[in-house]
Amino acid sequence: MNKDILGRWTKEKSEELYGIKNWGAGYFSISDKGEVLVNPYKDNASAAISIMDIISGITERGFDLPVLLRFENLLDSQISYLNNSFAEAMKKLNYKGVYRGVYPIKVNQQQQVVEEVTKFGQRYHHGLEVGSKAELIAALSAMKDKEACIICNGYKDEEFIDLGLYAVKMGFKLFFVIEIPGELDIIIERSQALKVQPNLGLRIKLSSKAGGHWTESGGDRSIFGLNMSEVISIVDTLKEKGMLDTLKLLHYHLGSQIPNIRDIRSAVLEATRVYAELVREGAPMGYLDLGGGLAVDYDGSNTNYTNSRNYTVEEYCSDIVEAVMAILDPSNIPHPTIITESGRTTVAYYSVLLFNVLDVTTFGEYDLPEKLREDTSEQIKNLFEVYKNLSLKNIQECYNDALYYRDEIRDMFKHGRISLRERAFAEKIFWNTIHEIAREKTKLKNPPPELEDIENAIADIYYCNFSIFQSLPDTWSIDQLFPIMPVHRLLECPRRSAVLADITCDCDGLIDKFIDLHDVRNTLPLHEMRNGDDYYLGVFLVGAYQETLGDLHNLFGDTNVVSVRIHPDGNFDFVKEIRGDSVADVLSYVEYEPKDMLVRFREIAEEAVRAGYITASERKEIMQAYDNGLRGYTYYER
Ligand SMILES: *Cc1c(COP(=O)(O)O)cnc(C)c1O
Repeated sequence: MNKDILGRWTKEKSEELYGIKNWGAGYFSISDKGEVLVNPYKDNASAAISIMDIISGITERGFDLPVLLRFENLLDSQISYLNNSFAEAMKKLNYKGVYRGVYPIKVNQQQQVVEEVTKFGQRYHHGLEVGSKAELIAALSAMKDKEACIICNGYKDEEFIDLGLYAVKMGFKLFFVIEIPGELDIIIERSQALKVQPNLGLRIKLSSKAGGHWTESGGDRSIFGLNMSEVISIVDTLKEKGMLDTLKLLHYHLGSQIPNIRDIRSAVLEATRVYAELVREGAPMGYLDLGGGLAVDYDGSNTNYTNSRNYTVEEYCSDIVEAVMAILDPSNIPHPTIITESGRTTVAYYSVLLFNVLDVTTFGEYDLPEKLREDTSEQIKNLFEVYKNLSLKNIQECYNDALYYRDEIRDMFKHGRISLRERAFAEKIFWNTIHEIAREKTKLKNPPPELEDIENAIADIYYCNFSIFQSLPDTWSIDQLFPIMPVHRLLECPRRSAVLADITCDCDGLIDKFIDLHDVRNTLPLHEMRNGDDYYLGVFLVGAYQETLGDLHNLFGDTNVVSVRIHPDGNFDFVKEIRGDSVADVLSYVEYEPKDMLVRFREIAEEAVRAGYITASERKEIMQAYDNGLRGYTYYER
């Protein structure tokens, strides 16, 4: 790998290698000590704090890794960024309406997150989007600002509607968005019964489609929203009932993480056309809700690749404002309040998952003798020849030969013609050959396709103290990529290439795809483990969707969560600590009763005393160990 003139590895090399400046959005960087820094104040360099300092603070306070760090200020900062970007775009284009964002609770429903969104959002009247009764109940416990919107999506039953109507009565700007035609009747009925004038919105299906993981959320075939004939029939019903004055909002949601700005723009144009038609029909309108979709640049490539986006937040805002104006201005329709339901971009930066590496498995390379003994089996001699004669010119041939001889030797072993010791020796030669081929391959401009994944075959496996299923479910379910890197030792050259295994012992508990500026990388460059020293990795941008989609695979529970507030002078506070699940907690989630388990295990232990396997005082120790186990963290404890 490249080094500076004096042959030293530098922090700049690490920055480039891990792409931290590309995906870090100005919040993350590397210090002169080679540690990852977090800085919510972007331009004020003295506010930056090292994640290693936070780790020591956490461990001194008796918390174990893995830990999910939440940075309050990053949430604050992202909300400001979005609101300010819209405000600037509107000012620049002379837009007459305002922006009122709402945060969709489903993206991270933790009480702390929802509370912080309403707290930091208040100065922009940033509201909440709910998709279920439970989320509405959560929203109403956190929301104080009567100027902010509460948008109710999802299917609504009578209970849901009544609660929403009461909120309207209490002065909240709450909208019922009609997703299916059948909802309208209950809403009309309940609002007449409770004598509350509702605020109605319509969710429409657009013909515009977006690329990315969630393409089917929009489009004709999407399961949510009304088609155009349903829209017209609702307008007619409202006219009949004399309630057209309650129709104020138009909504669509194209899907999450939309990487291409063109898709966003064409959806806005189409929806604004529908908005204009509803105004023409006589509805008061006034609100245009463009849903979510604002993407996060997880790999930092700034492209229309699924894990990225080919636009900035500023471009997103000005494209939307411009598109709305382009449709409405020719008809002199007043500019509506623009709402977006941006969840991912609001919370993604907020959380970082930290864990330690428990162990490493490497594949070669081995010290081999210069010459083989005379009595070595012929096939092993051949394999050794392949290894010795390897060069750039014949790597493809050598690769094929090495595979051939390895298989021959395995066969001979099966038939009892060579010993286990000989087979082990042959495997060393084989792995050295593969290493050599991988090294030579890097010199080729167009390596043979058969050798494409050869790095994977020799990649180290770093065993890490976390569960993919609990903490990074999207890496497993939809191949989402998150930036992953060591949070220290970044002045040292990372000489190993690794894949990451979690501790679930599930063969899917593996990360072998990593972000790259131009491609997807099969391995992650990491440092050699130093005897006895901890090695810490961070997974960044995990604030959106990961926490609540996670599950209890292998009974690994919630991780510890620590919230940090960073001050402009570079000090920080631990504002909140939430202990992760204990073993007893996760067992009770699957219907075990930890108290009964203790009783039963005590009986089993007592029987062992009676049968003479253990003494009474050993029983005491064993019970203690069982009890400690129940109280303990579900992850690897030090
Ligand atoms: C999930 C969802 C969102 C959030 O989308 P992001 O892309 O995360 O901003 C917004 N609106 C609705 C209706 C959703 O279902």
